[in-house]
Formats: sequence, structure tokens, C-alpha cells
Amino acid sequence: MSIRYVSTRGNGPELNFEDVLLAGLAPDGGLYVPTSLPHFSKEDLLAMRKMSYAELAYEIVAPFVGPCIAESDLRAILNDTYAEFRHPAVAPLVQLEDDQWVLELFQGPTLAFKDFALQLLGRLLDHVLGRRGEKVVIMGATSGDTGSAAIEGCKRCDNIDMFILHPHERVSDVQRRQMTTVIAPNIHNIAVQGNFDDCQAMVKASFVAEPFLPNGRRLVAVNSINWARIMAQIVYYFYSALALGRIEAPISFSVPTGNFGDIFAGYLAKQMGLPVEKLVIATNRNDVLHRVLTHGTYAKLSLEPSLSPSMDITVSSNFERLLFDLAGRDGAVLSRWMDEFAGGDLTLSESALAQAKSLFDSHRCSDEETCEEIANVWENNGYLVDPHTAIGTKAARACHGDSSAIMVTLATAHPAKFPASIEASGIGVTADLPAHLADLFERVETYDVLPNDLADVQRFMAENCRV
Ligand SMILES: *Cc1c(COP(=O)(O)O)cnc(C)c1O
Repeated sequence: MSIRYVSTRGNGPELNFEDVLLAGLAPDGGLYVPTSLPHFSKEDLLAMRKMSYAELAYEIVAPFVGPCIAESDLRAILNDTYAEFRHPAVAPLVQLEDDQWVLELFQGPTLAFKDFALQLLGRLLDHVLGRRGEKVVIMGATSGDTGSAAIEGCKRCDNIDMFILHPHERVSDVQRRQMTTVIAPNIHNIAVQGNFDDCQAMVKASFVAEPFLPNGRRLVAVNSINWARIMAQIVYYFYSALALGRIEAPISFSVPTGNFGDIFAGYLAKQMGLPVEKLVIATNRNDVLHRVLTHGTYAKLSLEPSLSPSMDITVSSNFERLLFDLAGRDGAVLSRWMDEFAGGDLTLSESALAQAKSLFDSHRCSDEETCEEIANVWENNGYLVDPHTAIGTKAARACHGDSSAIMVTLATAHPAKFPASIEASGIGVTADLPAHLADLFERVETYDVLPNDLADVQRFMAENCRV
């Protein structure tokens, strides 16, 4: 029996892995979730302790993929994916204090954890498309990390043309250059003369509009609601727990959170047999999740730009996947909840809130506290953290209490990606870009600046996708 996928809103068709890989939102507006999860016993976990990252990834991912990809192909794809990472451990652990650890998820090509999922997603898509004899166009909007990770993940894909929109002159130089210096015939960077919301609105509109691409070419999304991205992220929870010998003794994770994709993967790892005690939602001033966990009301506020821009969100799209479980996996109930939320706010029932609180803890950090924490970790532990990770380490200590669990903070980005925040912390050190990016500022950039106009952007895409 292989795992199938259903929509959280209960009205989408049931899909296999291959279809879910190519799907964005379900037609009923919901997100796809697996109908069942693989479970790993204590004996299974013991047997997995000595595996390399790619071998472990195979064990975790294969049940979700099912018969869609042959074992030898899937193993080759995973080996190839994680060979791109600079550190031999792929996701190395660093000890800060007795029971406080950091899991470095920034050893991939673009220095953020998104590489774990997007390096794999590009290869999975290209493999499946090659077999089907299809070509697709990927369209995405980015304010930073997602764009570069998606571009790096797809730059060698024969069956994918990629168009990434970013707001012109509104992303950092490092982030822009990480995208625009990738010169490949299938990669197109579009700088839109507007803000990030304008870019995102164009992507949304393009997915619902009349087909505008030649030859009926299909449009595919690689944003954080794509199931395969969540799936890939489950692996490092297992990897770090096994590396720390946590097969029975409890382990907790503190996760710098925006769209709730990364931490949702940790929640799944727990259900799949990992002895996870707490999952700490670490947020910046955009604290929609901290508020719902504290008071039980899920309500959108306006966006507040922060020093941790990759967590600047007003709604956490993947939170719907957790809400689906809290609704007893009843699509009709969840649909009602999402309607309520769309109408203003959603108040969780007492039992749903109690269940959420038994799984998650949360903590919120201001920009000032983020800078203090960067300085604090540097001075006390001699370790440099980026602003996202700093929110994680701060939340880890705040929420640890007297638990006997080991606490692991996910380091979601390399400090060199956010030099301005490191400088603002006043510690007087700078983070250097790793060797493979040391000449980033000397590389040639290519991108097209287009007006903030949907028709112009769509015409550009139609003219530039390979036939
Ligand atoms: C994307 C991102 C996050 C947030 O991850 P979600 O899965 O959206 O919760 C945190 N930190 C960094 C550096 C990121 O790029």
C-alpha cells in the first residue's frame, strides 16, 4: 500500500506522489497531506544510526514516494542532491552548552536550509518530467532565500524553464547576486518595478489565469506549500536525533519559523517515531503563530519588516496542515475554519488549543532582542549566528525550562547572508562568504527589469521559454 495524498479541505482528488509533486494548491484551495505516515520503531532507528545523510534520506523519503520512482533512481537522486553540500556531514551539529546544540542547515549551495528541499525538488521534477516526456515552467516570487535556492536547484534541469520575480532594488545585494549570477539557458530573473506583494500577486494571478504559455505548457509552483519540500525537511530531524543518540531519550527542537513548513516537518518526524518532546516556534515581530499558541486566536495583522526578513509573514500557509489534524482530519470542519479565518479571525476550541500546546511551545523576539542574542551567543559561546538562528537560540533557552531533553536549534541561514544584522549587533566581527561564493561580487549579473504589469511579465515568459 503506497501513501496517497488528499486535500486539507476535503474536496480535491486523491493523488499519488508524482501528481502531488506537480500540483500546487488542491483545486478546492486546500493543501495536500499524506493519508498515512510511515512509522519507525526503536529497532529501525537503531539500524539507521550509522547511515550517511543520503542513505537515511532514502529510508525516510521512499515510503512517501512509493512506486513513482524506482529505488536505484531515487537513491541516485538523493546521493547527487546531498553531494552538493560543503560539509561531509551535510547537516553538522555544533554544541553551544551542555544541553544546547545548533544544527547547521546552511551548508548547501545558497547558504540557507531551503537548499535541503529545493535541491531535491528540482531533481525529482526533472526526473519525473523526463520520463513523461513533458516540459514545464516554474514561476515564483521571492524576497530573498527561496529564489536563489530554487534557481540553484533547477539550473541543470532540462525539462524546466524557471522565471523568478523579485522586487527591483528591494532585495539585499547578496541575495540578488545569488540569483542573478546564475547564468543558464533555462533561468530567468525578473526584477519587477514594484514590491514583493506585487510580485506574489502576479504569480498567484498567473496560476489561475487563462493559459498564457506556448504549447499548453504547464505552470508549476515550488513555494513552501509543495509537499515534496516538507518531505525533504523531515530527514534532518531524524539525522540530528540519531547523531545525538536520541532514540528513546527525548529531544526538542527550536525552529525559526515563517510559513510553518520547516517546523511542520518536525511535527511529522515526531509522529513517525522520533522521541520529540517539544517543538518551539521561534518568531520575530510578525508573531501570528505565537499569538495563536498563546491566546488561541489565529488572526492576521499587517506586515512589519524585521531584521529576519525570511520570517516576515502575516499568515503561515503551512499552518493549515496542522489545523487539519487539529480538526480531526475532517476537511469539512477545516474548510469552515479557513472560511472563518478569511472573514477576520479564527478562534480555536479549547481542546484544539490544548492539543496544539501539548505539541508546540512558542517565543517571539523583537529586532533589539535579536541583535542582543547575536552578541550574546558570540560572547558566551564564540559562535556567530545569523538573525534567524538567533531568534531560534533565544527561544530555545526561553522555552527549555527544566526539561531533561536535549535542545537543538535549527540554524536556518549562514551569518554571511545577513551582514547588516551582524553589524547592528555591535560585536565588531564580520562573517565571510564561504569559498564557493567568495567572488560573488565580481560575477556578471543578468536580469530583466520589467514594469509592474502582469501582461508584460506574461509576455516576457511566453517569449523566453524554450520550445
Ligand atoms: C524560509 C526561512 C525561514 C522560515 O521557514 P518556514 O518553513 O517558512 O517556517 C527561516 N529562516 C530562514 C533563513 C529562511 O530562509
